[in-house]
Amino acid sequence: SKDQWEVDPEELILGQELGSGQFGLVLEGRWRDKKVAVKTIREECMSDEEFKEEARVMMRLSHCKLVQLYAVRTQCSPMCLVFEFMDNGCLSDYLRARKGRLSQEAMLGMCLDVSEGMAYLESSNFIHRDLAARNCLVSKKNEVKISDFGMTRFVLDDQYTSSQCSKFPIRWSAPEVIKYCKFSSKSDVWSFGVLMWEVYNEGRIPYENRSNVDVVESLSKGLRLLKPRLAPDAIHKLMTWCWKEKPEDRPSFVVLLHERAFLSDL
Ligand code: ADP
Repeated sequence: SKDQWEVDPEELILGQELGSGQFGLVLEGRWRDKKVAVKTIREECMSDEEFKEEARVMMRLSHCKLVQLYAVRTQCSPMCLVFEFMDNGCLSDYLRARKGRLSQEAMLGMCLDVSEGMAYLESSNFIHRDLAARNCLVSKKNEVKISDFGMTRFVLDDQYTSSQCSKFPIRWSAPEVIKYCKFSSKSDVWSFGVLMWEVYNEGRIPYENRSNVDVVESLSKGLRLLKPRLAPDAIHKLMTWCWKEKPEDRPSFVVLLHERAFLSDL
C-alpha cells in the first residue's frame, strides 16, 4: 500500500543549495506547487530506522508557529525531509542583520510566536530538546516559527549528543539536562528563556567570552545571564522565572502564554 507521507519522486523538484546542516545539505525545492526546503540526510549522520518511525509523529504535529514537515522520502537513499519554506532564514542571523533596527513590538512578537508554538508542542507532549534562535526560522511575513523539534535524538555524532562534548548546546541547556540529560517541557522552558535573551540582545551568543566549563560552573553557583539592555523589566522577570534551578519552579508554556495579555500592554 502507498504511504501517504512518502514523497513521490515525480512530485519533488530540487533546486539550489540553501546551506548545510547537521545531517547534510539543505536544498530549495518545489513539491505539489509549494516552495519547500529539502533536508537531505547523510546516512552516517542519522539513526534512520528510529527516525522513520518518529517522522510519522512529527508530520502529524501541525501549528502555524511550527515549520511544517510536509513529507519524507525514506524508501530511497539519501533520505529527505520536505519542509515548509521560510524566506527569511534562521532567527539568529535575522536578528544580527537587523541590529539596532528592531522595535520593541517586533522583539516581543518574536517571543510570543515562539511561546505559542512551544505551548502547542508542550500540549502534544513533545519535547523540542534544542530550542534556540538558530533553530527558529523567519517567514516572508516576518513570523517566527520553530524548527528542528526533536531532531537531536537522531544525531549520531556524539560530540553533539553528550553534554561533556564540544558541540552540545550547554548555553541553552537547563542544569538537569547538563547533569543528567533529563529533558522535559520544563527544560525547553529554560531554553526559551535563553532564546528571549538572544532576541533582546539582537542575536548575540549567550556568555560569548566564556568557556563551556565556565558557564556550567557559574550556573551551579546560581549566576544567570544578565538583563539585556533592550529588555523591559517584565521580560527580564520572565527570563529569570524560566531559569529557576528546579524545573517545577519554572512556568509551563501555557502559563507563559497567559502572561501575554499583560506583556502586550508594555
Ligand atoms: P540543521 O539544523 O540540520 O543543522 P539548518 O536547519 O541549520 O540545519 O539548515 C541549514 C540552513 O538551511 C539554514 O541556515 C537555513 O538557511 C536553511 N534552511 C533550513 N531550513 C529551511 C527552511 N525550512 N526554509 C528555508 N531555509 C531553510
